[in-house]
Amino acid sequence: MSESPSIQIIGHGLAGAILAETLSVAGLTLSVFDDGGRASSQVAAGMFTPLTGQRMIASWALDEALPEVQQFYPALEKSSGGSFFHPQSTLRIFRSQKEADEWHSRGDQRFTQSIDASAFPFHLPFGACEITGGGWVNLPPMLEALKKRRQEQGQWGKRDQADITLWAEGVRASENPLWKDVGWRNAQGDILTLHIPGLAEDRIYNFGKFLVPLGNQRFRCGATYAWDEPSPEPREAGRTEIETSLSEILQLPFEVCDHQSGLRPVAIARVPVAGPHPEQSDQWIFNGFGSKGVLLAPWMAERMRAYIQTGTPLPKECIAARRIQRQRDREKTRRIKHR
Ligand SMILES: Cc1cc2nc3c(=O)[nH]c(=O)nc-3n(C[C@H](O)[C@H](O)[C@H](O)COP(=O)(O)OP(=O)(O)OC[C@H]3O[C@@H](n4cnc5c(N)ncnc54)[C@H](O)[C@@H]3O)c2cc1C
Repeated sequence: MSESPSIQIIGHGLAGAILAETLSVAGLTLSVFDDGGRASSQVAAGMFTPLTGQRMIASWALDEALPEVQQFYPALEKSSGGSFFHPQSTLRIFRSQKEADEWHSRGDQRFTQSIDASAFPFHLPFGACEITGGGWVNLPPMLEALKKRRQEQGQWGKRDQADITLWAEGVRASENPLWKDVGWRNAQGDILTLHIPGLAEDRIYNFGKFLVPLGNQRFRCGATYAWDEPSPEPREAGRTEIETSLSEILQLPFEVCDHQSGLRPVAIARVPVAGPHPEQSDQWIFNGFGSKGVLLAPWMAERMRAYIQTGTPLPKECIAARRIQRQRDREKTRRIKHR
């Protein structure tokens, strides 16, 4: 590879956009092409949180990824004059005594603290805690600002020739013959926009589902996970699931203003996938961010930059060639077993 290869990025969702910005700032020659297809980044709630899941476990690569979040988005806001980064704590509502006990007994209390939640308008039989260090990013205006920047810098569109084609296609990778062997298990998600007069807008609320404050008494509420659902279209069952969960816990009336949905690009290994294809060394991928794109993309983009410019290896779990080989081996074993 030349020391400064020219790069064609395909896809300008949050993965392609953050990668393009990172590589452009580092002085690499690039262009971005997006055919205007459906992007899950346009419907995502945009949250990043240090602790995930029912057990509030630290996210994969948290110690590397979180400092990049705190650096990348504020710097981008400053240089673009936009406003889309919202660091905010989360009121984490326990849904069972087991969840509450687990939190009380954990040794590592990083990112959590006690909170008197009695004044919040929620049904709280098991109490709550506060998660710090997270927040959310309003992705559509950020992507618009980055698109404008690429256009102004002559980095928008398809080049005739590039040393590397870098695919950041989101869920469409699972249909691309080059990348289908990575192994995908995409997850459809429904998300609602609600009007909730009287609910404080200074934090995110999490009760298995989430409420993200948008301003003017509006909140995004979601999201569902429908695994292996091929259609990105909104599902009535998804809307009902969200409304039911919220009604059980919120002691205020709410009104549904909008219902959106999308497909999350989830790789079977559940961590992002990056780098060159095992057989076609000029074809690269940057994908598989699942529901952690906002947290992981800035750090992974920086790792890609370092790999391109200095040969610093990518995190081993993410290396595309390795992942493809593993998945092919798995498939082979499965076929032999089913003979
Ligand atoms: C309901 C819901 C809620 C979510 N909430 C969160 C959240 O709170 N936090 C979080 O981090 N993540 C969340 N996610 C996940 C998040 O959306 C994804 O991690 C992230 O958006 C993936 O970005 P991407 O760039 O890989 O894909 P996308 O955003 O889908 O972008 C892919 C882009 O590539 C383009 N493209 C694809 N193929 C081609 C091609 N061949 N030629 C040209 N262009 C092409 C498409 O037009 C599209 O613009 C949520 C997802 C859903 C569905």
